[in-house]
Amino acid sequence: MNSFHSPPLQRPIKLTISYTHSCNLQCRVCYAGCSREPSEREVPVAEWMRIVDDAIGSGVISFMFEGGEPLNRPDVIDVIRHCGSRAMTRLRTNATLIDRAMANALRAANLGDALVDMLGATAGTHDHLTGMPGSHQRLLAGVQELKSVGIPFTLLTIMNRRNAGELQGILDLGRSLGAEAVGVLRPYPLGRMRENWDELSLSLNEMMAAITGLRVPEGIRLMQSWHPNDANCCWQMAAVNAYGDSIGCTYLREYVNYGNLRSLTLLETWDDPLYASLRAGDVERSCGACATTQGSHGGCRSTAYAFHGRWDAPDPFDSPLNDGVDLRKLPDRLRAL
Ligand code: SF4
Ligand code: SF4
Repeated sequence: MNSFHSPPLQRPIKLTISYTHSCNLQCRVCYAGCSREPSEREVPVAEWMRIVDDAIGSGVISFMFEGGEPLNRPDVIDVIRHCGSRAMTRLRTNATLIDRAMANALRAANLGDALVDMLGATAGTHDHLTGMPGSHQRLLAGVQELKSVGIPFTLLTIMNRRNAGELQGILDLGRSLGAEAVGVLRPYPLGRMRENWDELSLSLNEMMAAITGLRVPEGIRLMQSWHPNDANCCWQMAAVNAYGDSIGCTYLREYVNYGNLRSLTLLETWDDPLYASLRAGDVERSCGACATTQGSHGGCRSTAYAFHGRWDAPDPFDSPLNDGVDLRKLPDRLRAL
């Protein structure tokens, strides 16, 4: 059994807030599988502010607002403003709802940077995957508005069968648009992506070939989470869903619930035994090369649990730890969710 050598964090430092379980797009690869309109069960704005205050009091120094699409609930601006001057504040967005007024509001709220989901270099691929004609063009317009007010941005893409041949195009587009970095994310068998897994998933060899074939343009950073960059970042993560449930990481959204922050403090849920054990980093086996580059062991706990049903299992997205798992085939347990 491998575990971290340094003692685990005593307090959370980063909190991801899934502000709403709604979105104006309906992406085929969406991990959230969200609805078009926010539900009445979502945390109201005043309570989000109290949760942010509690988190800062508990030691959180960095917030990530995501969804769904956070801007689908415009009152997110009030909460971003509430923490923007007190902590690093980031926004993950599809950028289609960012016009000049919204960009100015985000700037005035002290947003640190934006992570923009681009699912294809071409409008044909992006719009097919988002389910909305014109969404690629609206994304490009939103990015220009972010640039015009001086908010730095990164492009993120979820690799899948439809866009794997356009990753180089996304990198090149990121360079020409002035992105700080491009992040290629693995497909997680969650939400709508799980429902479309048979059509959109790739084998590990296909994903590795797509990653290793990329030519990174000068002036841009490539972020990717396959070997030798396969991290186990559970040790530093905290997350809350749109209903206030503390879930540790948004990629654990379908598997865990450590308690609700509308009635408990973040630190009370932090002490949940499963949460503490995931943070401790106890895993059966580890990839030495990834452990060296990432300083952590065993890879992502979400995909390890998805494919093996055990929290300490090896991550099959990491080639040295794959053990012959065909990532195109979902376990029956997940198909039944
Ligand atoms: S992936 Fe993002 S942009 Fe697409 S439907 Fe889900 S939340 Fe919306
Ligand atoms: S579940 Fe995966 S992505 Fe989430 S914190 Fe753990 S290792 Fe990181």
